Amino acid sequence: MPIRTTAPRTTAPRTTASARPKRPRRRNLAALTVLATLAVGCSAQDPAPGAARSSAPAAPPADAQAAPADAQAAPAVQAARAALAAMPAARPQAAAGQELNGRRSAAEHALALEQALAAARHWGLAALPLRAPAPPAVKPALADGPGVKLAPGLPPVVYRVPTTDKVIFLTVDDGAEKDPQFAAMATELNVPMTVFLSDYLARSDYGYFRALQAHGVGIDNHTLTHPDLRRLGPDALRREICGQQDRLQQETGTRPRLFRPPYGEYTEAALRTAASCGVTAFPLWNEEAFPDHLEWRYADQRFHPGDIVLTHFRAPSADWKGTMADMLRRVVDAATAQGFAIARLEDYL
Ligand SMILES: [Zn+2]
Repeated sequence: MPIRTTAPRTTAPRTTASARPKRPRRRNLAALTVLATLAVGCSAQDPAPGAARSSAPAAPPADAQAAPADAQAAPAVQAARAALAAMPAARPQAAAGQELNGRRSAAEHALALEQALAAARHWGLAALPLRAPAPPAVKPALADGPGVKLAPGLPPVVYRVPTTDKVIFLTVDDGAEKDPQFAAMATELNVPMTVFLSDYLARSDYGYFRALQAHGVGIDNHTLTHPDLRRLGPDALRREICGQQDRLQQETGTRPRLFRPPYGEYTEAALRTAASCGVTAFPLWNEEAFPDHLEWRYADQRFHPGDIVLTHFRAPSADWKGTMADMLRRVVDAATAQGFAIARLEDYL
């Protein structure tokens, strides 16, 4: 019997009103003001979008949050640091404090902050993204309940990872559009992502995805040809799911652990088949991101800790009004404005 997986959005549960921080908006605006100030002074040095950029990766923004006082930093950098320090921390203060005594010098912190600010400005972000906390030492235990469907002996189906960390997870499906701007933006901003590839769309250029993988992006399974799994018999299920396990292992050197069923539809037989060839979880999603809007799961129109966000590798079209870079900007800015960092799904699931 098919297991319904896509909760109707109109009747989605309303979450508690307790998680409604008021302060981030004002504080983010403070950081935005600093960014705007820096943009005035530095925009002439910025390469145009699409132009060749430095190979130096953008520094993780939270390095900036953990930066010690540095009398040598430029006043604008000091102002940015003060604004960022006032923003809600995306990770425990203790971890940030430990980094103060770490190996990076004050000058290196200042440079990292300047690089992060430059990357955020270059890609048109409203504020500096928050960096995710250190990955949990132990992955959250999954129990059947809100956000998780769990049956004995089967891979868990997860819409929202149980965590109190203020993190969300970005997942990108199918693999049709291979936009170099999107890859450059995600890489320079250090946005963690997990991609679910369907072979018939991805195979024209697996190299695009291997390049993302080299920057920490997880590559996972979305079947060979994107069928509705509810219509398939045992042999076809095995071919679609396990066939793509083999294909991705061949193309990326890593056998996926995560599987996302096309259309979010699956059956118990699909769960069993996937488990038989190495899949340990079925991540689905709560929110969905488009270039011009976000579709929210909850009536409060906010992210919640552990939310999985779905989007797609798509080119501009009538129902995809913008570029993948526009989509990523929308997700990152919404997360930052709500005090969330984007984290790696594989660190939690
Ligand atoms: Zn799909």
